[in-house]
Amino acid sequence: MKQFRNFVAGEWVAPAGGEYFENRNPADMSDVVGQFPLSGAADVERAVESAWRGFELWRRTPAPARGDVMRRIGDLMVKRKEEIADQMTREMGKPLTETRGDVQEGIDTAYYAAGEGRRLFGHTVPSEMRNKWAMSYRRPIGVCGIITPFNFPMAIPTWKMFPALLCGNACIFKPAEDVPVTGHMLVEIMLEAGLPPEVIQLVHGVGESVGAAIVNHPRIPVISFTGSTETGRIVGEICGRMHKRLSLEMGGKNAMLVFDDADPELAIEGVLWGAFGTTGQRCTATSRLIVQDGIHDELVSRLIDRARALKLGDGRKKGTDVGPLINQNALEKVERYIDIGQGEGADLMCGGQRPTAPGTEKGFFFEPTIFARVRAGMRLEQEEIFGPVLSVIRFQTVDEAFAINNDVRYGLSSSVYTRDVNVAMRAIVELDNGITYINAPTIGAEAHLPFGGVKQTGNGHREGGWEVYEFYSETKVGYLDFSGALQRAQIDNYLGTPD
Ligand code: ADP
Repeated sequence: MKQFRNFVAGEWVAPAGGEYFENRNPADMSDVVGQFPLSGAADVERAVESAWRGFELWRRTPAPARGDVMRRIGDLMVKRKEEIADQMTREMGKPLTETRGDVQEGIDTAYYAAGEGRRLFGHTVPSEMRNKWAMSYRRPIGVCGIITPFNFPMAIPTWKMFPALLCGNACIFKPAEDVPVTGHMLVEIMLEAGLPPEVIQLVHGVGESVGAAIVNHPRIPVISFTGSTETGRIVGEICGRMHKRLSLEMGGKNAMLVFDDADPELAIEGVLWGAFGTTGQRCTATSRLIVQDGIHDELVSRLIDRARALKLGDGRKKGTDVGPLINQNALEKVERYIDIGQGEGADLMCGGQRPTAPGTEKGFFFEPTIFARVRAGMRLEQEEIFGPVLSVIRFQTVDEAFAINNDVRYGLSSSVYTRDVNVAMRAIVELDNGITYINAPTIGAEAHLPFGGVKQTGNGHREGGWEVYEFYSETKVGYLDFSGALQRAQIDNYLGTPD
């Protein structure tokens, strides 16, 4: 069985403690993907020392040259797209169509970063004085700790690391313990593309040890975290105490709102993809379907038939629609919510159990599940499940639908199906989410637009697009006075102003 290594201080190395963990295929637990370092604080310590050396070199490399490395990374990802998608499906389960999309998002992010190397705009603004210039520019911060989840094993690390690196920072990367192969391949590609070795450090291991050592390390001033709201709270408390710059991307309880005038077929296609794609394990998954009274019964009955017809199985096999959940804990959590929903009086319309079909017995599969007659305020309607469970809620008026959408503690994405342009525009303005889709599902972010949510989904930062470059750089201002005289801002131009 293949034993993988960390990449620390410019070389592929075994963990200091010599211990390893196994990574298994969630569609078939007898398939061991490999052994990975169970690293600890000593590995993080070495990585930090080395990353600062890498930073000193990299921050002096011109941004367009850093952009050239990003372009080569993108080129190599294009070449290895199929191989990465295949291994990603093997280690986390979602079907190949989806893992190819995941790699593509990394490619898009690489090319966007490459272009940004020739922008990274600052401002030149008029000074209030004569013969004086004022300007701002972006400078790197230092070493960034990158902690990522299992559900987008390539897209999320690239969203974080490519902008961080383009800005001139060094990165210490801890992939989620369920998807270490994709992380390994990404670092291989970054090195092959010509990234100076000490600029990237890869430290495998579990969150409570490696993740916590990164978050607590005084010489890692920037942390970017995507994961559960519970872990995000722990990370946030530590970073607040230590005055670290922190980007948090956490949970969602995203809704699709379907109005009577919507195209039902389009809405059904959208909700199937939004709710059951990636087995519901996306922060943008559709977990609430809020349907207007007039279209409700027809839509729900057609939707149930379609959900029952989805094919569960190994994501590497042709024809598979839905893969397994990531691990035993995820499966048990989904099962708990089936009990919770039934206890609250919601109607279980389909799914609600593990499948019995041959080929599913060795993995963490769970049937696509739909609850109807869910009422606003139930736990089923309020809490993130992170599995293939959809709650249907009935509404009468636009105001009621918007209120149900907004009345949760999260605010990542929402989606509205209507042909009424006034309702569509009101949704974009009034729904409390970072992203609202019209006539498209709650999932579908593009790499060149800012991604993130409001309320307890995040802490105000955005990934992707132009905004993420603000997070990974410090704004520095330069004033240049070439008048040869002392010019006092706010004073000399205003002498003689009457009291
Ligand atoms: P998910 O439910 O999506 O797996 P987690 O929040 O458990 O979300 O994990 C997201 C990432 O955070 C993973 O890489 C995990 O190892 C890491 N992690 C878990 N616990 C901690 C912690 N206490 N400190 C830092 N990182 C952690």
